Amino acid sequence: MEFRVLAEAYEKLEATRGRLEMMAILSELFKEAKSDEIDKIIYLSQGVIAPPFEGIEVGLGEKFVEEAISLATGYQVKKVEEVYRRTGDLGKTAEELLLSKKQMSLFSHPLSVQKVFDNFMKMAKTSGAGSQDAKIKRLAELLNNATPKEASYIARFPVGKLRLGIGDPTILDALSAYKAGDKSLREELERAYNLCSDLGLVARTLFSDGIEGIRKFRIKVFNPIRPALAERLPSAEEIIEKIGKCAVERKYDGLRMQIHKQNEKVEIFSRRLERMTHMFPEIVAGVRKQVRAKDAILEGEALAYNETSGEYYPFQLTMQRKRKYGVKEKAEEYPLKLFAFDILYADGEDFTKRPYHERRKTLERLIAYGDVLKLSEMMVADDPKELEAFFEESIEKGMEGIVAKDLNAEYVAGARKFAWIKLKRSYKGELADTVDLVIIGYFLGKGMRAKFKFGGLLCAVYDEKEDVFRSVAKIGSGFSEEQMKQFEEMLGRIKVDHKLARVDSEIKPDFWVDLTYVVTVAADEITRSPTHTAGKGKGESGYALRFPRMVDLRGDKSPEEATTVAEIIEMYKMQKRTQLEET
Ligand code: AMP
Repeated sequence: MEFRVLAEAYEKLEATRGRLEMMAILSELFKEAKSDEIDKIIYLSQGVIAPPFEGIEVGLGEKFVEEAISLATGYQVKKVEEVYRRTGDLGKTAEELLLSKKQMSLFSHPLSVQKVFDNFMKMAKTSGAGSQDAKIKRLAELLNNATPKEASYIARFPVGKLRLGIGDPTILDALSAYKAGDKSLREELERAYNLCSDLGLVARTLFSDGIEGIRKFRIKVFNPIRPALAERLPSAEEIIEKIGKCAVERKYDGLRMQIHKQNEKVEIFSRRLERMTHMFPEIVAGVRKQVRAKDAILEGEALAYNETSGEYYPFQLTMQRKRKYGVKEKAEEYPLKLFAFDILYADGEDFTKRPYHERRKTLERLIAYGDVLKLSEMMVADDPKELEAFFEESIEKGMEGIVAKDLNAEYVAGARKFAWIKLKRSYKGELADTVDLVIIGYFLGKGMRAKFKFGGLLCAVYDEKEDVFRSVAKIGSGFSEEQMKQFEEMLGRIKVDHKLARVDSEIKPDFWVDLTYVVTVAADEITRSPTHTAGKGKGESGYALRFPRMVDLRGDKSPEEATTVAEIIEMYKMQKRTQLEET
């Protein structure tokens, strides 16, 4: 496929405001793709060159892209900087300068998708001395052969600012529409995606082997599985009512890890499925020593824990272990323990379809006694009182609460089902749980805050069905001066000049931003609101947070992993029930 075709589709996507239209543009685009290029088209459209767990990134900062534009257009870097300052967009900068380039290279070959992808891949794989120069040259070569419009996308790509705003669910729908003309294959495609977390691979399989190939999809060690998520309920009674006799596990407040092992090779993936093996040498060693299977995929929560005093250290301390440098020193200072809670695969056998009680038995059998890996503490309860007592004890031990698990449920990859239900401590007059919201825009500082170019956030929850982010809170408090400065800088870098197609909000912030950051937010309660769009039906009010307060930035969640509209509605109902009980 010529890159021109892709760039034209991107132009249409950028101008689109609706998700159905996006899906149609994509499925038309897919019809023009061959089976050996569809994966590249998917990756490029996601703004990556490989699935995130591969950790392959082009790695070129803005300054270097400016140099490449200068090389390709013959303009001095100073001039490039000047245009960039004015437009605020490297894509527009490249486009504008190429348009006015004195010597258009008239005989350049049309760029193919393959060529663009290959050059980005080569850039990603270049390392060592002189690698930046080599990368700049490769990028300049592409820009030199590109039309101004193509160049705008090529220049944005290495700095992660393609800004097409297409989510995974939209791509899955578009793949289904390409093959079947409607969304009927979405579920099967999604299942394959949940097992491998690689949309390029799913698309390639669909193109080469059809839907049969998708149905035969199997788990592969080192391809992370999209994690199962927990629902929430407000009380032990309701948990027992919902799933009956169940397993109850401590809810450890640490880092979720999905661990893959094949012989001596071990990889650790985060909740967002990024590879973080090198950060946790003690866990790698522990897995080699204690897992009694040649091949295995297991999950657990890792945290700093003092075995002698039995004390669990706070989450912030565990988070310090997510670092690039000084890994060894920190690992010695705060070694982590892994509390294993699930097994998904072992020695050729897929356990995701097996009920929890079988998986737990297998987990108990396959983990040998040792220093690093522990089994998550668990009991079986069929009486709310027993569950409640275990919950209280967990809180006393400094844990977040408990996770109750349906004894007969499969492992539901990539979804929030009532197979796992969390129960957390709640305070009177405060929402039982914090929520994780996506920043969709921000406001400028007023009054005392006028010195900052930041005065508050506009935040949204995720509507899973529609793949859209709907507004739920305007947050103006809970920020330290330090944080305000941090937000001013962080958000300044991702502001966009229009509301993104996947954003639904009637409130207009001073600036819209790319969907990038998730923040944890506390609030007093959930109220019905005419101005917010979360859960808003025709002629009905939406839902909003009352007195929302910023708690922290959540680096380990992607926008699609934020709290959902359905969860907000569920929390609203729970709150109503509790209020009724209290009166
Ligand atoms: P939340 O992040 O509040 O939605 O709660 C779900 C998270 O709890 C999971 O993603 C795990 O990281 C964590 N967790 C802690 N202990 C357990 C456990 N025993 N079983 C399952 N998840 C757990």
